[in-house]
Formats: sequence, C-alpha cells, structure tokens
Amino acid sequence: MIYDLIIVGSGPAGLAAAIYAQRAKLSTLVLEKEYMSGGQVVNTYEVDNYPGLPEIGGFELGMKFREHAEKLGASFLNIEVRHIGLEEEGRIKVIYTDREEYRARALILAMGAKHRMLGLPGEKRLTGMGVSYCATCDGAFFKGRATAVVGGGDVAVEDALFLARGCSKVYLIHRRDELRAAAVLQEQLKKCENVEFLWDTEVAGIEGDDHLECLKLKNKKTGEERMLDVDGLFIAVGTVPNTTSITNLLQLDENGYIVAGEDGTTNVPGIFAAGDVRTKQLRQIVTAVSDGANAVTSVQAYLNTL
Ligand code: NDP
Repeated sequence: MIYDLIIVGSGPAGLAAAIYAQRAKLSTLVLEKEYMSGGQVVNTYEVDNYPGLPEIGGFELGMKFREHAEKLGASFLNIEVRHIGLEEEGRIKVIYTDREEYRARALILAMGAKHRMLGLPGEKRLTGMGVSYCATCDGAFFKGRATAVVGGGDVAVEDALFLARGCSKVYLIHRRDELRAAAVLQEQLKKCENVEFLWDTEVAGIEGDDHLECLKLKNKKTGEERMLDVDGLFIAVGTVPNTTSITNLLQLDENGYIVAGEDGTTNVPGIFAAGDVRTKQLRQIVTAVSDGANAVTSVQAYLNTL
C-alpha cells in the first residue's frame, strides 16, 4: 500500500498533523518509536502556557491530543524508523525499519528531540542510580532527600519546582548568573525556601560507586572547586534533535535540526518537518501543534502537484 502521508513521531506536532490529516481525508499512518510515546509533553508535570487549559498535567494534555487523533480514526504503528529513501524520482518516499518497509507520497517528520547529556564520566553509569533526566518520572524516589538540578531553562526550573515539593533541599546549578527560563517560573522558584541557587557553576564530576554520592562543582568565575553531597541529580540542559535516521537525505543545521520554515518545507519535495525537530525560534507545545497543522496544509498542496 502507498499512503498519502506517513507521519513519523507522535508528540504534539505528530498528533496535530494526524488530526489535520484525518480531517483532510488523507490515507495516513503514524509511526511511533515506542507504544503511545507521546513525546516530551507526557513527562512534563504541569503545562501552564497552553491557551485555554491552564495548569493542565503534561501527561493529561498529551493523552488528550492522542485521544483526539484516535477519535478521528488515525492509525498508529509502534516501530522505529532506521532510514528514509526515495523511489520513482522522489515521488514515493520509503521508510525502512528493522521489519517492514512503508511507502507514502508525502512524509511529515515530527520526531522531536531528546535529552542532552553533560558528557561526564559516571553520567551514563549512574543513570537510574541517582542520575535522572526526568524529575516527574523519578522525583518521588528522593522524597525528604537532597537533590540538584543542572540547567537554567524552563525544564530545569520546572524540575526544581517539582522537586522542591518533596525534597529536603534542591540545588539549582547553572553555568551563568541568570536563568533563561520564563520569568513566571523563576519567580515561583525564588519563593521556595528549600531551593538554593548555585550560580556560575558547572558540574565537573559525578561521583559514586553503585549510586550517586556527590558532585564535583567548579565555579566558573573563581575556578574554586568543591564537593556537594546529593542523593539525586536531575540533568536538564536542553535537548538534541532525533535526526540520526535521516542524515542521509535532509539538510540539517549545525546542531542537527532539520532546516525547514514555518510551512515545514525541507530540501526534499514532499518531506516536511514539524515540531521540535525543525529549525525554529521557540520550541513549545503550542508551536509544535501549529507546525503539525501547517505541515498538513503543505502536504495537501504538494499532493495536488503530483
Ligand atoms: P533550553 O535550551 O531552554 O535550556 C537549556 C539550559 O541548559 C540553558 O540554561 C543552558 O545554559 C543549559 N545548558 C546547555 N548545555 C549545558 C551544558 N553542557 N552544561 C550546563 N548547562 C547547559 O532547554 P529546556 O530543556 O529547558 O527547554 C527546551 C525547550 O522546551 C525550550 O524552548 C523551552 O522553552 C521549551 N519548553 C516548553 C514548555 C512548554 O511549552 N510548556 C515546558 C518546558 C520547556 P545557558 O542558559 O547558559 O545557555
């Protein structure tokens, strides 16, 4: 079978695209790496900037997107894309996986992004043993204990706010002396009595045998080093795009994001990018969702040219 459209990814961008594609009556298949993966939103404790749904839980919002797509009849398949190829002078796009091949006239790539690592020795070894990338997933294990969050963006501040509710102490470690997180989040965090900000500080070492015991910190201005005992370290230093499967075909920027504008158009006719995986100024749920809608509009225009 040759679909009109295959959507790769089932985060907010992929699901919005699925909703628009169903409404446009395109024969569509959504491929997702993990069953009901839902993207980064499902691991967000609370979302307070999605219009009309203040303070909604990230998991709940993610599930609402999915239920909406399913209600309209979207088909999902749980499979990992290995790479993408072209047939018939590019008119057919082929998705290669470890099992089957899937063909469509158009693709929307909405694979999102994953956690960036600090790249320190001990980081991988102690992941799951005190080191985590998801406060809402693992924070409950550290109730009444001391934790640290590294990063200065929305995610780091949201994580610290979440942890401050249950942990005895939360250190927010940031490499500069100001946060880039939304002002409203910063204000909330500064009010938490059990949160201490460690400015101009980098994590230079993650130490422990079979579980995290302490961090080696370095002050970037003074060069001073110190050890900090914590039970948990939450790393929230941004994301890297999930684009390893498509490097053969698409133009990426220097950070690995697919070069594409608001309409999702990439350097390959009929392949569109939506959400966090594309070059853009603001990576938010609301912009991911609008990307999904825009990309389907572009797909429809493209299919009319075939
Ligand atoms: P960001 O890129 O916004 O922030 C990453 C933070 O990590 C920055 O403070 C950066 O420092 C720091 N950092 C990066 N690399 C390192 C490193 N190697 N060592 C130490 N620190 C480092 O990422 P987020 O994950 O916070 O957010 C990703 C996107 O998702 C953002 O656009 C954010 O707005 C969005 N988001 C949207 C939400 C929503 O819609 N409700 C909720 C949460 C996030 P520096 O500041 O010095 O560059």
